[in-house]
This record gives sequence, structure tokens and C-alpha cells, in this order.
Amino acid sequence: MIKYGELTTKKANRNVFIRLLQENIERMLEGTPVSIQKDRVRMYIHCEEPVLEEVVSKLKKVFGIHGIVVCHKVNTIIEEIEEKSLELLKKDMYKTFKVETKRADKTFPISSMEFNQKMGSFLLKNTDKKVDVHNPDILLHIEIRREGTYLYTNEIRGLGGYPVGIQGKGLLMLSGGIDSPVAGYLALKRGVSIDCVYFESPPHTSIEAKNKVIALTRILNTYSFHIRLFIVPFTELQEAIYKYVPDSYIITIMRRMMYRITEQLARKNNEKVILNGESIGQVASQTLTSMQVINEVTHMPVIRPVACMDKLEIISIANKIGTYETSILPFEDCCTIFLPKHPVIHPDIKKVKQIEENFKFESLIEKAVENVEVLKSFTNVDLENYL
Ligand code: ATP
Ligand code: MG
Repeated sequence: MIKYGELTTKKANRNVFIRLLQENIERMLEGTPVSIQKDRVRMYIHCEEPVLEEVVSKLKKVFGIHGIVVCHKVNTIIEEIEEKSLELLKKDMYKTFKVETKRADKTFPISSMEFNQKMGSFLLKNTDKKVDVHNPDILLHIEIRREGTYLYTNEIRGLGGYPVGIQGKGLLMLSGGIDSPVAGYLALKRGVSIDCVYFESPPHTSIEAKNKVIALTRILNTYSFHIRLFIVPFTELQEAIYKYVPDSYIITIMRRMMYRITEQLARKNNEKVILNGESIGQVASQTLTSMQVINEVTHMPVIRPVACMDKLEIISIANKIGTYETSILPFEDCCTIFLPKHPVIHPDIKKVKQIEENFKFESLIEKAVENVEVLKSFTNVDLENYL
């Protein structure tokens, strides 16, 4: 049983939300034998016991699901209910329990109160657990309905958020560090689908660095569907920057070029916003002045989901979502390789514009955009050798 949680507050759009959530669940469970039924407050996913674990672990990666309750259905025959209750109670390390019966089918001859007592004494007799009516370790729900009896215990928390796709698309600047995959995850959580863009500068950056970004995209794709990765050949532009730009402004100018290219790609691919992993004050290029000067090249909204988080908070999310181990692999990306000793902390916009007049970057940008490599499927890339 799936609980929608936050979705139910969006009255007008509720049906749209629920329909998309169902589609996403179906996509996530593709190839697994299940059947889905829904009403306005709940969704029911029916499956057989052998695939249960797989189904639950996949549902734990679907945004828009707030709670998952594993219900076991048995025939309304006392022996069957007893047998299943015993199995559920024995499975875990609980010391105390409480039974809560709901008799929806009033033709069933035993009242809820009586049934609680009956089951309670059966379980006391057949296990070493104790009853605690106020604060039980496990609450065993028994719902007696016409079509059968449902038994369930504790609720599993879902990821929450909104179904991916409800908000249209954004383009994530994905660098292979810790921050940008977390930014992507948080955008997905709000229902934004994503594509990713990565700037590579071979031979200054290695194939391992690129594979790492592919691996991260693959992890993000387990929370989403059909993420594309645009790989931008950035070498020529980066070498030109190195040649024409004073050391302290290299990063500022480089990031303006990245934003320009990202915006062009986003417009081409119908992405409404740019997303990235910038966090206020983390490095010289992420001071408010730097953000202002870098942001100046685009009118597209730039969303920075981790802007106000501490590094430790970002790391804890990275661990939770499974990107951290890959992010800390030690391959340089184009920012770290060309990092000047003293990058400017408060860049001056007038100076930036003067510097940009020194070289013809427009044609280089055009060329980079034209030669973007698009990856759609990540399964054929052999990453295991280096991971
Ligand atoms: P991250 O941990 O995500 O690498 P960072 O703290 O290292 O971030 P920067 O290297 O300054 O910060 O980059 C800031 C943001 O710019 C990144 O989070 C990412 O969104 C984007 N970015 C940086 N380098 C690249 C790249 N080579 N390709 C794509 N996006 C990039
Ligand atoms: Mg980085």
C-alpha cells in the first residue's frame, strides 16, 4: 500500500500527480510481475511473496511516495490469520507488541475488541513476546474485509517529494564532485526531470574522470528515467582562456563560458532552468560577487539546490543516495586542473568584459555546442575496471 502524503494537499492537480506517480511506478517496476490499483488516497500494488523484496526496494527510489506499507493478504480463516501473525511477529527483533483489529466486514462474527484479545493471547502463548498497549515495539494491524484479511506492521518511509516529471526539465551541470550529484537528486525530488552536461578537456582531463561522471549519471538515473548526458568538448576554449586571461580571472571566465554553453544546450533541448552544485562561499567562484558576475551571461533561471547547505550536510545526502563513494574517486576535472593560485574573490564585471574582448570566444562556443556527444544509455560503458 502506497501513501501519497504531500500530494494529497495539491487539490486541483491531484489527479495529474497521481497519474504521473502511477506511470513512474510502472516504469520503475517494468519487468516485475505486479498489478496496480488506485483510489484518491492510496495506491495498491499487488505482487507475490518471492518478488516482494525487489518491489519494496524499487519503490523506495520513487519520488512522490511518502509511505510504503507491506500488507499480507490471507483468507479470512482464523488459522491463516494466526499463522501469518506469528510469522510477522517472529521475523523481527521485537520484544513487545499490540494487536489492532479493524472489522470492515461486519458479517465476520467476532468483534474487533474480542479479536484483539483472541489474537493477543494466541501470540503470547506461541512467542516469547509481551503485550504493551501503550508503547509497543510492533503494532500488528489486522483488517478484516470481505475479500480477505490484511495484516501489516510498521510503515516504511518513502523518499517523499513530487513525482519526477511533474515540473518539466532542467539541465544539471554535473562535474564529478560531491555537490552536483546531490543538487541533481534534490531537483528530482521536487519533480524536475533532468539531463546532465559535463565539460571535458582531454587530454588535460582523463577518460577516468569522464567515466566517473557517467557512473554518477547512472546512479542518478536509478531515481529517474532516461537521463541524457551531454559531454561538451571544452579543450579548445579552455586553452584559449589559459592563453588570453590573467591568472586570477581564469575561473571566473571559464565559468561564464560554461554557463553560456549550458544555456544554449538547454534552449535546444527544451530545458527550462539550469541546475548546479554551487554552494555559497565554498570556493572563490561561489562568493555572492562571483555568482553575480558569472550569472550575468544568462537570463535563464539558475537553481542551486545546495546553495545554503554546509559541506557536511551535502556529504550526508551524498552518502544516503549512493553517490559519495564515486564522487571522491581522485580524478581531476577541468576546474581543478587549471586552478590558479589566487583566484579572484570579488571579480569586477567591467574587467571581465574587457578580458572577454581579447579573444573570439563566440566561435569556440558554437563549435563546442555543435560537437556535443550525447549519451543516453549507460549500461554499455564498462566502469567496473576502474571503480
Ligand atoms: P562539485 O562538488 O559538484 O564538483 P565544487 O564544489 O567542486 O562542486 P566547482 O568546481 O566550483 O565546485 O563547480 C561548481 C559547480 O559547477 C559544480 O557543482 C557543477 O554544477 C558545475 N561544474 C563545475 N565543473 C564542471 C564540469 N567540468 N562539467 C559540468 N559542470 C561543472
Ligand atoms: Mg568540482
